[in-house]
Amino acid sequence: MKNSDLVKRDLSVLWHPCTQMKDHETLPLIPIRRGEGVWIEDLEGKRYIDAISSWWVNIFGHARPEISDAIKRQLDKLEHVLLAGFTHETVVELSERLVKITPPGLTRCFYADNGSSAVEIALKMSFHYWRNHGQTRKTRFISLANSYHGETLGALSVGDIPLYRETYQPLLHNNIIAPSPDCFDRAPGVSYEAHSRESFSAMEDLLAQHASEVCAVIVEPLIQCAGYMRMYHPVYLQMLREACDRHGVHLIADEIAVGFGRTGTLFACEQAQITPDFMCLSKGLTGGYMPFAVTLTTDDVYQAFYDDYEKLTGFLHSHSFTGNPLGCSAALAVLDIFDREPVLANNRKLAQCMHDLTANLNDHPHIAEVRQTGMILALEMIKDKQKRTPYPWQERRGLKVYRHALSRGVLLRPIGNVVYLMPPYVIIPDEIAHVVNVAREGIDLATRD
Ligand code: PMP
Repeated sequence: MKNSDLVKRDLSVLWHPCTQMKDHETLPLIPIRRGEGVWIEDLEGKRYIDAISSWWVNIFGHARPEISDAIKRQLDKLEHVLLAGFTHETVVELSERLVKITPPGLTRCFYADNGSSAVEIALKMSFHYWRNHGQTRKTRFISLANSYHGETLGALSVGDIPLYRETYQPLLHNNIIAPSPDCFDRAPGVSYEAHSRESFSAMEDLLAQHASEVCAVIVEPLIQCAGYMRMYHPVYLQMLREACDRHGVHLIADEIAVGFGRTGTLFACEQAQITPDFMCLSKGLTGGYMPFAVTLTTDDVYQAFYDDYEKLTGFLHSHSFTGNPLGCSAALAVLDIFDREPVLANNRKLAQCMHDLTANLNDHPHIAEVRQTGMILALEMIKDKQKRTPYPWQERRGLKVYRHALSRGVLLRPIGNVVYLMPPYVIIPDEIAHVVNVAREGIDLATRD
């Protein structure tokens, strides 16, 4: 079948996510027939390096045999069973292993089937915890400016992406936004650590002022991924953990994008040596094979719900696919890969390679900053480097990079003016070099006028 045949059928029946469908009058939709490792291939055999791990989920690339086999084996045994009143070996084993590898003190796993739902669970559990403790005035959350936690209404309410906020504001809960520790904003000569430390004072003030009505602070540890891959120092998380404890407020770590080795450690929170009260995981959890998510929490939270039925303190949340065995089997296969292979050590080498190959881009007249944390590297395009004037979003410079990259066999999907690499961990240095070359060509092209 030709690409154009499937595209025609697609465009007559589908509505794609994160897409102005009218764009597809001129922007070709790409039908993919197979994937292998870092490569995906369209119907006509054109191959692309998936340099963004298909929205950050395929951490070990595509068609990884161990993960596929694990799912197939599970499929022959048990494809699904409800998780209320019933259980199964795969979900028990996965929970035991997640409890072992996540920060100490996270002892309970509550499953969902996508990241936004994992965030909803954390928000509701935190609120309900305080309610069960008689603290009914706690109904709000604090999140960071420029944060993203998903697209269901609760998750959107703690997000701060202007487009979503402006559009859906009337439907959103009245939460509190604290300034982001985003180190892109640091003054010249100021270190990440100093800037992150300094940014904390605003959070401290908000906690002091609002603790009695705040259930939890929710953050994306170290990197605001959908928020233009803006980064900050672990010291902010340390200060936040300490302040949340002092003010009697929960801390929710949304590691949906950064978990599973992306930042250099298995979980980003490890770099601050903290345990959040809730940790949300999804995306890399199944290596991108199955829609799946988990919210981990502490014994203290669990105990606040544990009582006689008549007291009505039980947590009220259920998803049809909670703890789906196929998702669990994929997740176990992912954890096996981490156990068997030196993934983090290998990622350090790949991250160094990404760093070395992009170092000269710091001098590019239209790249404001090359920033990196582990296996995420971002190139921020800017109109005027001296005055720090950004390109207006309407100019869609990132789209030019996207188009160019596709023509050269690379999937890069810039966020606004930020071109980023978030490749599968199985990428090799030659492929990184190709991706970097193509990114540079795309940026040259997109910033020429
Ligand atoms: N939180 C973060 C930090 C994310 O990056 C995302 C997805 N990009 C989500 C939550 C939402 O996950 P999902 O798209 O699976 O709902």
